[in-house]
Amino acid sequence: MFKYYIKTFGCQMNVNDSEFIAGQLEDMGYEVTADINQANIVILNTCCVRKKVEHKIYSMAGKVSQLKLEKPGLIFGICGCLAQKEKENIQKKIPLIDLIFGPSQATSFKVILKQFLLNKERKIINCDNRKQFSLQNIPIKHHSPISAFIQIMKGCNNFCSYCIVPYTRGPEESRPPEEILYEIKKLANSGYKEIFLLGQNVNSYGNDIINHDDFLTLLLKINEIEGIERIRFTTSHPKDFNLDLIKVIKKGKKICEHIHLPMQSGSDNILKKMNRKYDMKQYYQIIKHIRKNIPNASITTDVMVGFPGETEEDFGFTVQAFKDIQFDSAYTFIYSNREKTLASLFNRQISLQIKKERLWKLIELQKDISIKKNQQIIGKTVEILVENISKKGVKHQYWGKTRTNKVVVFLNKCDEYEGNGSLIGKLAYINIQRADAFTLYGELVDVKNR
Ligand code: SF4
Repeated sequence: MFKYYIKTFGCQMNVNDSEFIAGQLEDMGYEVTADINQANIVILNTCCVRKKVEHKIYSMAGKVSQLKLEKPGLIFGICGCLAQKEKENIQKKIPLIDLIFGPSQATSFKVILKQFLLNKERKIINCDNRKQFSLQNIPIKHHSPISAFIQIMKGCNNFCSYCIVPYTRGPEESRPPEEILYEIKKLANSGYKEIFLLGQNVNSYGNDIINHDDFLTLLLKINEIEGIERIRFTTSHPKDFNLDLIKVIKKGKKICEHIHLPMQSGSDNILKKMNRKYDMKQYYQIIKHIRKNIPNASITTDVMVGFPGETEEDFGFTVQAFKDIQFDSAYTFIYSNREKTLASLFNRQISLQIKKERLWKLIELQKDISIKKNQQIIGKTVEILVENISKKGVKHQYWGKTRTNKVVVFLNKCDEYEGNGSLIGKLAYINIQRADAFTLYGELVDVKNR
């Protein structure tokens, strides 16, 4: 049996692209392996949002090249955003590479591989940004048997000054709503409980197709699909996040009360340079509307420190925003200078030392806030979707997530579910007894529809 190994770097969109590549390989008879030495095909699905990740990818590519020297029949491919951005560089730096293809081509992987197998001496390079975004009839291997990623759109029109995505994934293109709804119904019929809608800016779903559903209509239609218990989505852009969407989240019983809203900076001056197209007054206003309409919602964010020209005062505004808003959690990053972006041309780049100090200050602050928020849940009973076993034993320890996207680990003390993993995929009620910044711990109280 031929085996494949895929290493995915970056965001959920990349994870989803890898699911498509895996699905197509398995459709061709390949089998997955966790041991790269056993593989006949190695694919690195890459990201280029941060330089550090890029270094890691090239270092791993060097190791795969070494493996290919020992095993010349090995097929080696690089895909994703880095492939799209640097196909020439990759050919120069990794002469043994066989396949280079962009994110738009992940769903055509079968064709790419067949072309290569028919004509083995040549490399295949395909970084076209195709038109007509459709994922119909493309095999996919979902990362979980109960929760599935669904790409509803690809690309981005926003051109934030630091971001490479609009150059690597191209302009926004929405998938036809009928196709999305059909796929979700099929998943519901095969036992999937949670749908995670993906797009670089989901709020602008449908803007590029005439007379079609917008994002709010799509959400409400998915909410009607029987069998699906939870709907999540990411990423939302604050400039497009409005009261209508908040009302839809409140109305749609299956739409989870977790809102991920990248703030990026608390300083209007920096937001302007980032070309984010909102200011902090607008951002605070959205938070106020969310808290008023959905008081139990969790709000998470992405924030970058050390953007060119970020002064102590600018950073102070970000710290203040963390204190004011009290996010449930935050993904904090150091600004990474990406060639071809507008921000790479800006003066007053910040030293690494200062960037690191600012990052640690935010991480520590957010940790305290997350602990405080999570500890407020102690003693309460929360509904979770059980995702998997976290520790095997006489009575298994399981984990799952609340509707607000908090990870819960719990011990099953109920004999009915002893020993066989049968809680996976069920909605369970857990009494929370302990909490830290990242996890809640509790005990099983009840299970919905036993
Ligand atoms: S919204 Fe901005 S940060 Fe997000 S993908 Fe588009 S350009 Fe990049």
